[in-house]
Amino acid sequence: RAKEEGRNTYRFYTEEMTALALEHLELQSRLRHAIEAGQLVLHYQPQMELAGGRMVGLEALVRWEHPEQGLIEPSRFVPVAEDTGLILSLGEWVLRQACCQARAWLDAGLEFGRVSVNVAGKQVQRGDLLAVVQRALADSGLPPDRLELEITESFVMKEAERAIDLLRAIRALGVKLAIDDFGTGYSSLAYLKLLPFDKLKIDKGFVRDLPWDENDAAIARAVIALGHSLQFTVIAEGVENEAQRECLLRDGCDQAQGYLYGPPMAWDRVEALLRREEASVWRVVGL
Ligand code: C2E
Ligand code: MG
Ligand code: MG
Repeated sequence: RAKEEGRNTYRFYTEEMTALALEHLELQSRLRHAIEAGQLVLHYQPQMELAGGRMVGLEALVRWEHPEQGLIEPSRFVPVAEDTGLILSLGEWVLRQACCQARAWLDAGLEFGRVSVNVAGKQVQRGDLLAVVQRALADSGLPPDRLELEITESFVMKEAERAIDLLRAIRALGVKLAIDDFGTGYSSLAYLKLLPFDKLKIDKGFVRDLPWDENDAAIARAVIALGHSLQFTVIAEGVENEAQRECLLRDGCDQAQGYLYGPPMAWDRVEALLRREEASVWRVVGL
């Protein structure tokens, strides 16, 4: 009886795995087609100086404009792209697109600070990231100090040692480097200061329950102090309300990003807001 059940469970399990693998394959080929068919778009989310309220940057976040399903979030296809290597062409497209858009805004006299682009671990591991970045900068004409790359803490801690020369070379171009999702990846503190990064992004998981959750408040305070003692700029992601903003400001956090200031938006909406100039307008965009 137990044996039978075991066998059934096994069969069920393999069927499920096959279905998953097929889904994965199908998604992979649809995504490849989407890149070629120009169905990917970038949305941009403002990054704000906490004390002054000035905009200091825009993070580019990819979306898939599916002809039938509408806008698909990156959590539904970026992991598949990472597993299959498609992330290399997707990542290069994102980088070029963000640089070209930023250059167009500069040409139109619109000030946004820096454009920030997420880079997957695979793109760093492949080793040609320096050339890809140089090409995107040269072809777009974007000054290097207008570009920032975000790399997740989990990748940085696992693999950065091998990539340290590459990261240094990219930074030597004038491009800024940020550690994304900080606090989730078991950083070695001694190691952190050896790495060529400019900015720490406190993961939104630690921001969500501020200021009420005492553990999260203590973690946020500690990360801000740590970041500053290592000369990093510190930004909090996922800032949704005034209470969170006040708490972070009190603890000396430099910058914030989140629905309080504005969600990720299509380029034309961002452009309309940039044209209004007054930084105060960003306060009311979000909700
Ligand atoms: P991330 O880089 O940490 O981006 C922040 C995510 O938080 C974004 O989700 C953003 O929409 C969301 N967010 C912004 N403000 C708030 C807020 O106030 N509250 C909450 N709860 N969430 C907020 P999104 O756009 O779905 O992107 C998810 C992740 O997908 C990103 O996390 C990033 O890791 C990845 N991703 C997005 N675009 C790219 C890309 O072009 N390349 C790569 N490699 N990864 C990307
Ligand atoms: Mg990011
Ligand atoms: Mg993040």
